[in-house]
Amino acid sequence: MQVVRPGKLEMTEKPLLPPPAGHVRIRVEACGVCHSDAATVEGMFPIQWPRVPGHEAVGRIDALGEGVEGWALGQRVGVGFLGGSCGHCIPCRSGDLVSCQNQAYVGVQHDGGYAEFMFAKATGLISVPDALSSADAAPLLCAGLTTFSALRNSPAKAGDLVAVLGIGGLGHLGIQYARHMGLEVAAIGRGADKAELAKKLGAHHYIDSATAEPANALQALGGAAVVFATASAGKAAADTVKGLRPRGVVIALGATPEPIEVPSLDLVLASRSVAGALTGNPATGDATLKFSVLTGIAAMIETMPSREPPKRTQR
Ligand SMILES: [Zn+2]
Ligand SMILES: [Zn+2]
Repeated sequence: MQVVRPGKLEMTEKPLLPPPAGHVRIRVEACGVCHSDAATVEGMFPIQWPRVPGHEAVGRIDALGEGVEGWALGQRVGVGFLGGSCGHCIPCRSGDLVSCQNQAYVGVQHDGGYAEFMFAKATGLISVPDALSSADAAPLLCAGLTTFSALRNSPAKAGDLVAVLGIGGLGHLGIQYARHMGLEVAAIGRGADKAELAKKLGAHHYIDSATAEPANALQALGGAAVVFATASAGKAAADTVKGLRPRGVVIALGATPEPIEVPSLDLVLASRSVAGALTGNPATGDATLKFSVLTGIAAMIETMPSREPPKRTQR
């Protein structure tokens, strides 16, 4: 399924080619539909048309390109947003694979997983445990990896209060991971109707931003070590800064052009900071899937076939 021009997706048939050097060919079993796919479909990223979207793909390797080591035919693998690091730029040589300067975005600069087959650079592959179905693994490669990696690399330690701002695709996984990592979890949503879901996902506290000031509510709980801003709203993220304890940090995970405007006073007086985090490296991807199996964490998904008209199954 390829995008031929902004807003226009169409089915196409392409010849099955061998993978380029350093790449594998994957027979796709499932691919998540991510909010960022809209940026491909609508042409918000600079795109060379036509382009196949999809960066939450899971399938089995059915061909190995020249020079690929460590991966086997038939192995089930996943592909996330980052298409595989180069190994020779300075961030790569410093071990910061996420910041690789020569890394393509899957489904943006390369064709992605809205297809029966796709190519993927071996350095970007994530291994999928047998216990996880392909459909369940797919969204964990993007929303799962993003929240898991941010939590795991954050300064929050077991027992610390953290807040998850937004209870959507990222947030509903972030709450579960935070809970299972031994943190005290406050979920921040808009409206009373999200309270039940937040508690079901494992939040200890629910803060309704329609009726309470999130910063005050967090301070009443002792102040958050970290706020994970999963909602793509700059103002909502800015409103949580004063809810941080001294040396606390707001980590932005939802990408938006909307600025996060914070008085420097609120940063300086308690040594607080605002930061961002971009998804995670492939080894953290492996860990995300493994941790999800160990703890029973899953995304709430809806599956549908890519060929026939949608017949929905919900779980
Ligand atoms: Zn995504
Ligand atoms: Zn690199």
